[in-house]
Amino acid sequence: MNHAPMTCAEFVDQVGAHLEGDLTPTQMALFDAHLAVCPRCRRYLASYKAAVSLVRAAMADSEERGAQSLPEALVKSIMRRHRRRK
Ligand SMILES: [Zn+2]
Repeated sequence: MNHAPMTCAEFVDQVGAHLEGDLTPTQMALFDAHLAVCPRCRRYLASYKAAVSLVRAAMADSEERGAQSLPEALVKSIMRRHRRRK
């Protein structure tokens, strides 16, 4: 099992899985450890969550699909738009 510190790229890669509760306990621990030491990824997670809630709100209209996982491409495009504004 890989206990090397997580990189920012890996962190970004796993944010979606983290919010869906799809990480293993080991991945979760690495994720939290990285979060504790990396302010940039803390900000990334915050904006990711904000984007997710926008997508969720947009999808609330078609509510039977609530069980479906989020369209990650859509989340990312929302985040990109936010970042540019800054
Ligand atoms: Zn990071």
